[in-house]
Amino acid sequence: MESCIFCKIIGGEVSSEKITETDNFLVFRDMNEKAPGHSLVVPKTHIKSFLEMDRELYGEFMEVTKAATEKIMKDYKHESFNLIINDGEAAGQVVSHLHLHIIPRNVGDGYKICP
Ligand SMILES: [Zn+2]
Repeated sequence: MESCIFCKIIGGEVSSEKITETDNFLVFRDMNEKAPGHSLVVPKTHIKSFLEMDRELYGEFMEVTKAATEKIMKDYKHESFNLIINDGEAAGQVVSHLHLHIIPRNVGDGYKICP
């Protein structure tokens, strides 16, 4: 999708700080980070919802999320993390391209996540 910011990042039209990638997923730093190391896991094909992902990709999705989270915890020396998907407008999805937030957390950081 031409106007999608994540597709532009995947295509290299917009620069990003890459954490890791696989054949079907890219993980990069969120430009509006809530904490140092806050990153997004996105499929390289443009789909909007977690429910639209091809069945064979779910395993790879979890594997790349785990590998990226481990790297971020180590590199940025965080204690904890949230993994969040805002799926759909009512859930707060702003970019219509599936993305999972890896949000590093530390005690007392004061970041309020949606219930
Ligand atoms: Zn897209």
